[in-house]
Amino acid sequence: MVASSRQSAFLELIQERVDRYKPILEDDFGVTLGAVAAMPLRAAERINSAFGKSDSQLHKECLDKHGRPPLPIRWALHQLEKVIVWLPAYALVWFRYWYPDFMMKWDSATPAVLVSFAGWSAEDYHRHAAKLDQWTVHEMAHGVWSQLAQDEDDDHTGRWRLWNEGFAHYLADVYMRKAYPVDTRIDLDWSKFRLEGKQLVTDVVDRNGQDSLRTIPTHWQHLDSS
Ligand SMILES: [Zn+2]
Repeated sequence: MVASSRQSAFLELIQERVDRYKPILEDDFGVTLGAVAAMPLRAAERINSAFGKSDSQLHKECLDKHGRPPLPIRWALHQLEKVIVWLPAYALVWFRYWYPDFMMKWDSATPAVLVSFAGWSAEDYHRHAAKLDQWTVHEMAHGVWSQLAQDEDDDHTGRWRLWNEGFAHYLADVYMRKAYPVDTRIDLDWSKFRLEGKQLVTDVVDRNGQDSLRTIPTHWQHLDSS
């Protein structure tokens, strides 16, 4: 398939960045991220496969109970039920990790940099490839936070997200910039939320120096109230 070979070529480009920047981050922040993979983010597929299962379950149920497949009206109601569940589930997946341009996500459990290829044109592959230094570092920065704070299982507040996102932006947009090739394209046009988070982190570094970056994942609550 053309699409999947294009995807694996793109994932290889991310993997190159992972291999290049991971040792620097691990060294500077005293963490171990492990063997980080680059993988496609299949959130929509996961939702769809859950719904595929519910279709076949309904089928089986009707055959077991009535000895025939579901009636058209039962089937139609079932599809409607799915849409009602599907819409918010899909919106959650999209908006929670929403980026203005393209979407990548860090997965600490695997650990991996995940990228959504949903709706990409040939031109998108080309365009996005130019930003991979910054974006890959951004996602790994979430991994650095998670290693320092060990807060994966906590319930996270809006303020946590703000600091966490700001930390990732500061590392990728500012701190690691010196390590990128000179012609790397750096995105600076972020949402208000992201810029606010980045500013919080910038203020801490301006006040306390670059070493204080390490303490942010564990001390952000204290910094937030000071
Ligand atoms: Zn992020």
